[in-house]
Amino acid sequence: MISVECFGSSSLGNCYRLKSSVNGDEILVDIGLPFKVIQRACRYNFMHLNGILITHQHGDHSRSVSDWLQLGHKVYMTKDTAQAVHALDARTWIEIIPKKTFKVGIFTVLPFELEHDVPNVGFLITDGEEKLLYITDTYYCRYTFKDVDHILVECNHSYEILKNRVYDDELSKQRMERLVKSHFALENVIKFLQSMDLSKCKDIHLIHLSNENSNEAEFKKAVQAATGKLVIVHQEKG
Ligand SMILES: [Zn+2]
Ligand SMILES: [Zn+2]
Repeated sequence: MISVECFGSSSLGNCYRLKSSVNGDEILVDIGLPFKVIQRACRYNFMHLNGILITHQHGDHSRSVSDWLQLGHKVYMTKDTAQAVHALDARTWIEIIPKKTFKVGIFTVLPFELEHDVPNVGFLITDGEEKLLYITDTYYCRYTFKDVDHILVECNHSYEILKNRVYDDELSKQRMERLVKSHFALENVIKFLQSMDLSKCKDIHLIHLSNENSNEAEFKKAVQAATGKLVIVHQEKG
C-alpha cells in the first residue's frame, strides 16, 4: 500500500511524502517549500527516505533542491530541470528521461511528459502492491492510465470562475490565457478522469488549487459526482 502525506499544495509550495507499507520506504515528490518546513513536517527523520522526485523547475516545486543535494540526498529530475535549478554539478542528482522507468527503493517510477510552460513530467509510481498517479502543472494530459489505486491531480481553476473574474475585471484576459495554457482546469480534469478505467481507484486527491480561481467545496462535489470516488482536496499549507 502507498500512503500519501501532503506538506503543501498551492502556488506557494508543493511537497508530498509517499510511504510504502511493504517495507516502510519513503520518497518525496516535489520539494517546493523551504527546507526547514519540510524537515519539520518529516519530524527530522529521513532514515527511510530513498529519494526525491522533482517534476519541473518552478520554485513552488523545487525551492529547497540545493539543501537536499548538499546533504547528499538523491534527487531525480530531467536535465532541463537540473540545468534550470543549477544542479548539474551536484553529485547526487539523477537524470529522469520521460518514459524510462527507474527504481527508488521499493518504488518503480514511470515518468511521462506533461504540458506546461516549461518542461515538466508526471509520475506513475508503484510499490509492487499499489499504483499512484501524480500529475500537476499541466493543462492537458495526452496519456491515459489504468489500474491506478490513488490519483493526485492538479485542479487549479475552473473555466467558469476564470470567465466570471474576467467579466468582473478582477482578472486580465492575458492572465486567463496563460492559466488555461499551463494549469489543469476542473472541466479538463473531469474529462481526463472519465477517460480512465477507475475501477481500482480508491481515492482522488485534488492538488494545487488556485487561491482566487477555485472553489474547494464545488470542485470536490463535481469530481465526486463525475467519478463516484472518494475525493480529498488538499488546500494550501505552504
Ligand atoms: Zn506549480
Ligand atoms: Zn509550474
